[in-house]
Amino acid sequence: MSRIAYVNGAYVPMSEACVHIDDRGYQFADGVYEGVSVRHGKLIDLEPHLDRLWRSLGELQMMAPMDRGPMRLVLKEVVRRNRIKDGFLYLQITRGVAPRDHPFPAQTPWPAMVVTAKRLNFDAVMDRAMTQGVAGSSQPDIRWGRCDVKSTSLLPNILAKQAAREAGAFEAVMVDRDGYVTEGSSTNIWMVTKDGTLVTRSTDDNILPGITRASVMKVARDLQMKVEERAFTLEEAKGAAEMFLTSSTSCAMPIVSLDGQKIGDGTPGPVAKRLVEAYKAFMDA
Ligand code: PMP
Repeated sequence: MSRIAYVNGAYVPMSEACVHIDDRGYQFADGVYEGVSVRHGKLIDLEPHLDRLWRSLGELQMMAPMDRGPMRLVLKEVVRRNRIKDGFLYLQITRGVAPRDHPFPAQTPWPAMVVTAKRLNFDAVMDRAMTQGVAGSSQPDIRWGRCDVKSTSLLPNILAKQAAREAGAFEAVMVDRDGYVTEGSSTNIWMVTKDGTLVTRSTDDNILPGITRASVMKVARDLQMKVEERAFTLEEAKGAAEMFLTSSTSCAMPIVSLDGQKIGDGTPGPVAKRLVEAYKAFMDA
């Protein structure tokens, strides 16, 4: 079955899913996006994702192409038409089509919107989290000052991820100039201290407020775990009992080594494993 994309008002086969070359998303990465996981056909944390999308649009003075009600319908229709049970939905909105010129177009174009969905085996993700985890590689965070906006302008993230992959790691653990961990190239980063406290950077610092980060935090507090939102250094992370990352596609995923150094005993730790199970239960509820 050919995958179906939503492109500016129409559901079309992927082979016909095209945008204009003067789209400001193509020309300038002048756009925002969201990625939502789909579990048993249900969009996980859809409302927080829409809240974050509207916030990103607002911060860039961009119009939404439709209200939230119709947007929910479009997103669910893309999942339905692609017959996704477990998967990942991608949504992108750009400022629209206008002759290439840096300032916002004098006549505001209609924003462009595309939505795609693909299968993703979350059972395999959870299995990896419980048995293997992933490796991390520290990389300098060279991004701009508005990482709270979920912009499609991802070149520094791509370079960090690529450098991590070339170092044999799954994810880049990005580090600011002062030696503090910010987040992953497409994930939020956590550590567990020796006394069992979960630590992750606060979102008023310059990181993306991850939706999975928020849900895992809630799950952890429901389990009576202590959570601290504060910055921590790369050195502190390397000496932590455990580390893990969170994102819509990776859920909660133990980081078992960093720059080739074992974290804890180099296997998924008990705290992360409890969180993986609890987050799975949250997704399955
Ligand atoms: N940080 C960055 C830089 C990201 O790109 C992402 C995922 N898009 C995340 C964190 C995780 O966010 P979420 O849990 O909403 O997927």
